[in-house]
Amino acid sequence: MADVAVEALTKEFAGGVKALDQLDLAVEEGEFFALLGPSGCGKTTLLRSIAGLERPTSGKVLIGGRDVTRTPPGGRGIAMVFQDYALLPHMTVADNIAYPLKIRHVPKAQRLEAASRTAASLGLDQYLKRRPAELSGGQQQRVALARAITSRAKVFLLDEPLSNLDAQLRMEARIFLKRLQQELAVTTIYVTHDQSEALALADRMAVMERGVIRQVGPPVEVYLRPDNLFVAGFMGATPINLLEAKVDTGVLRVGDNRIGIPSGTQAGLSSGRQVTVAVRPEHVSLSDAAQTGGFEGSVVLVEHLGDDDLVTLEGGGVTIRAKVNIDDAVQLGDLRWAVPNPERVLVFDPSTGERIRGQNAAAPPRVAPHALAKDAGTGAIGTAAGGAGG
Ligand code: ATP
Repeated sequence: MADVAVEALTKEFAGGVKALDQLDLAVEEGEFFALLGPSGCGKTTLLRSIAGLERPTSGKVLIGGRDVTRTPPGGRGIAMVFQDYALLPHMTVADNIAYPLKIRHVPKAQRLEAASRTAASLGLDQYLKRRPAELSGGQQQRVALARAITSRAKVFLLDEPLSNLDAQLRMEARIFLKRLQQELAVTTIYVTHDQSEALALADRMAVMERGVIRQVGPPVEVYLRPDNLFVAGFMGATPINLLEAKVDTGVLRVGDNRIGIPSGTQAGLSSGRQVTVAVRPEHVSLSDAAQTGGFEGSVVLVEHLGDDDLVTLEGGGVTIRAKVNIDDAVQLGDLRWAVPNPERVLVFDPSTGERIRGQNAAAPPRVAPHALAKDAGTGAIGTAAGGAGG
């Protein structure tokens, strides 16, 4: 298996669009690495540059320690699966799967034998004689994966390979993909704009914005400790609360309320400094009674999310959202206290957008990434009465 690295990679398209800007990235051998970011941030361009389908304007691509910047795609030891699967329409499923062996001049009987073995492991054996047009999207996607497996590539480059599937099939394909990748231990770079997919699958992930990487890390780390306001705002199933605040002799003033300064950040927070306080709705609980470090407000909106409600409270110059269990039966007009979990309150410098360091430095809790993706877990976070002080 191979590690993949890019160094100071820049890609400027004709017309001056800089899709990648001096980008550095190192993906470890055998790692499942997700590239995440909003539309147009450069994910596909980065993947295509690693594949050799785009020629970088400057910078290097290395695979297995070898500089492949000028090597054609066929010589890079990679297999690609794209959103449209790129199957050869005139060939049968068997021939599509066996195609990488055909280019390597493996004898016909041998390559068809290998194709049917891989097809069987993916539940495709009864479709071997069909052509791609006679398959569903999910089946085509499995054929594309089977072809990648037959290629015995050292690196898989996957660009939104599940995006054409319906929700049920997508979940199944996701599980299949993760198991396959673990079994083959093949270095995998996976482009998606769906953060739940990245959280569920990736060992590590990068969040991109306009051709640069804004944060790299394990999914739980990126979710719980975003480095900057861009990542804080991008991650999360529901928008993070962003509250303007001012440091006031050992506390943070937010509207008419005061909350404690998160542990470890005191050094960076001299009195009078303006900061942005960020806390995810799933890290805010609601209480009927007055709470130290809480925000009193009336409920102005209740959005049903399934097992949870997203509740918006207004009061004391603050608007704050909390994700609570539907059993809390919150009603419009209720007067409640919104209490952020002090362990999960983040503080950012509003002028640079960077997180003020030293806070929440403890190791991330052992939470399964898929649990975060689905529901960041009001229950798991617990209530947070009082601890913020102030
Ligand atoms: P999406 O999630 O929508 O697929 P992305 O993050 O994969 O987006 P890219 O497709 O890499 O983004 O595009 C990055 C930027 O480069 C965009 O602004 C896009 O318009 C531009 N771009 C991509 N391909 C070309 C091209 N061939 N010529 C000119 N500009 C391009």
